[in-house]
Amino acid sequence: MATVKPLSAPQKALHKLGLDSPLALALHLPFRYEDDTQLSSLRSAQFGESLQFEAEVLAHEVVYRPKRQLKVEVLSDGLTCTLRFFNFYPSQLKQFQVGAKLRLKGEVRGGMFGLSMMHPAVQIAGAPLSTTLTPIYASSAGLAQTYIRKAVLSGLKKATELGLFEPTIPAALEPEDLWPLKEALQFLHLPEQGTLLHTLEDQTHPAWRRLKAEELLAQQLSQMKARIARSQVKAPALKRQAKLAKAQKKSALSLVDALRAQLPFQLTQAQSRVLQEIAADLSLPVPMHRLLQGDVGSGKTVVAALAAAQCIDAGWQCALMAPTEILAYQHFEKLSVWLEPLLSEKSLKVAWLTGSQKKKDKTQALADIEEGQAALVIGTHAIIQEHVKFKCLGLAIIDEQHRFGVEQRLNLRKKSKTATEQLAEHTEPFASPFDAPGEALEPHLLMMSATPIPRTLAMSYFADLDVSTLDELPPGRTPVLTKLFAEHKRPELIERVKHQILQGFQVYWVCPLIEESESVDLTNATQTHMELSHALQELAQEDVEGQGAVKHVQVGLLHSKMHEQDKKAVMQAFKEGHIQVLVSTTVIEVGVDVPNATLMVIEHAERFGLSQLHQLRGRVGRGSAASTCVLLYALGEHGRLSDTASQRLKAMIQTQDGFEIAKRDLEIRGPGEFLGARQSGAALLRYADPLLDTELMQWAQDLAPNMWRDHPQMALAHLARWQTLRSEYLKA
Ligand code: ADP
Ligand code: MG
Repeated sequence: MATVKPLSAPQKALHKLGLDSPLALALHLPFRYEDDTQLSSLRSAQFGESLQFEAEVLAHEVVYRPKRQLKVEVLSDGLTCTLRFFNFYPSQLKQFQVGAKLRLKGEVRGGMFGLSMMHPAVQIAGAPLSTTLTPIYASSAGLAQTYIRKAVLSGLKKATELGLFEPTIPAALEPEDLWPLKEALQFLHLPEQGTLLHTLEDQTHPAWRRLKAEELLAQQLSQMKARIARSQVKAPALKRQAKLAKAQKKSALSLVDALRAQLPFQLTQAQSRVLQEIAADLSLPVPMHRLLQGDVGSGKTVVAALAAAQCIDAGWQCALMAPTEILAYQHFEKLSVWLEPLLSEKSLKVAWLTGSQKKKDKTQALADIEEGQAALVIGTHAIIQEHVKFKCLGLAIIDEQHRFGVEQRLNLRKKSKTATEQLAEHTEPFASPFDAPGEALEPHLLMMSATPIPRTLAMSYFADLDVSTLDELPPGRTPVLTKLFAEHKRPELIERVKHQILQGFQVYWVCPLIEESESVDLTNATQTHMELSHALQELAQEDVEGQGAVKHVQVGLLHSKMHEQDKKAVMQAFKEGHIQVLVSTTVIEVGVDVPNATLMVIEHAERFGLSQLHQLRGRVGRGSAASTCVLLYALGEHGRLSDTASQRLKAMIQTQDGFEIAKRDLEIRGPGEFLGARQSGAALLRYADPLLDTELMQWAQDLAPNMWRDHPQMALAHLARWQTLRSEYLKA
């Protein structure tokens, strides 16, 4: 019987890093290099830089103060240097015998007591020097560089023997000057002596180009594959009701038309256009996978409502998920008003589902969802929980999708798959026009976001999405005036707040933190709330003597640690105008819509990200009255703003265009941070940078469809090599 050898500690560590195949090891490239190919003189030591030199031991001793340590005195080139070791074995003392000649490597430090080195690497002097640069790999505790280096090199050898680096791109279709993969890897793991270190570390060396090109192509191939796979998945064809009505001899208006007829406004051209795009997708038996992007206030909600209506018209359920309960509830209220009267004729309803709701209400909602009475389900993450079973989910809409993790988005799609499998069992009251019982159907997916994704990034990360863009704001909006205020102008600001209230308008006052934190001295929402309550108290009194236009000034407080019920109540009171000033943390960042609010103050604006500031500013300027956004900033420790903070604030003053803001934000933050860890799910690209490697990116994009068409075997082999890319995430 074969026995399974348990893994050694370093093997376990390798496994944890995902380095458990020859391929994974070979593709684990060094993140920097050291040059051990030469000996230097101690005299040429640069503080802070690693140095390799040879020296003779003058003395050694173990001292106990201030801490147990081994001190070794060495002489090199006429200079002495003290080596210190805090961790050492008695057996090590042998190598430090007086007169011994050693080769040392490490960082030399200067100081009052002369030159010293902590824990240098020690070898016997005179051994042959390395002829290649020494690679340093990303590692983890308990995994020595020497171990990982050996493992990587043996992985590289094995993978090469297994033929894993044979070309997978037809030579004629490659960009020029690309090294063969085998050589590029060999080189990057063991660069020849004399290679310019910086070309390796900033990845401009030609060997890197091969890896970037391969990786980008893999990404494009994988996204195309997902797209092709999706085109083979079935979804319910949600036909426009007009045609169906005829077939079923119904004379009533379709839900879409009825809803449209009762809207208090005309759709903008942009809204009509994107609705057509969405409607066309929905009517196909293939899952839609569309991102609706439009600046804050561009009117995405009504687009979502009309898409939902089309879905319900066709006899299917629709789910609308929002990232915060406040936002979800706002949608629930709005869409209930619009749709309930129309739905109740058909004994259907709009259901509300969140984590914080009462057990009884939740049970009812879950039953309605499972039995199909709930034609539209609105809520938070609660919707994607396992026990929520849809009868026949036809369309899932995710608002502010960038606030959701990729996994959550994936869940929503998976959920409905299982849900639709139940279709065969239930057919009433939904007589589904899509007649395919038992077949796995996926719902259509509509994602909405106010943070537009710049084209360069969209190409790389979202190639699998179709994008609709609302590039027009509803008419009658006056641009928001944005002003910078230094902290000392606070009193003046409070006067502005008063002025606004006296005119019957409302004010948001946003603070960055909920509670005083020891490390960051930020004015907190609670304190600001007290301060404003106090300052505005006087306003009420002044006004009693005046015209009496404002009887009660109410200052509300809203932060994420409050109970959902309380949050809802405060938000409601603000919406209805009972609260004039709402002091809040960023919980109001997304989606909240109170057109009567005309002043937004953002305290410590220098601490917010650019997209976040833009989102917040989007809470005002929603009505016809002129609105202002005041960015209140405090100078940092050195009496000035950081560079990035001033870039952000400047951008806010200069533009109100969400696309321009997104572009600047990307420039300031770089793609990783821009997309956010949640958004990117994992490090999707290890080597290439979609912003810098635009030419290779374009090449990969052009080549991917050809590869699938003309060289499918090579495309598959290429993907197999790069499967370490988290392709699952790319589909979300
Ligand atoms: P967002 O795209 O930020 O989600 P909303 O859907 O909340 O924007 O819409 C912002 C405001 O504009 C809402 O008060 C909404 O009722 C209003 N609105 C939407 N479309 C139009 C339109 N075509 N004409 C006038 N007002 C509109
Ligand atoms: Mg919105």
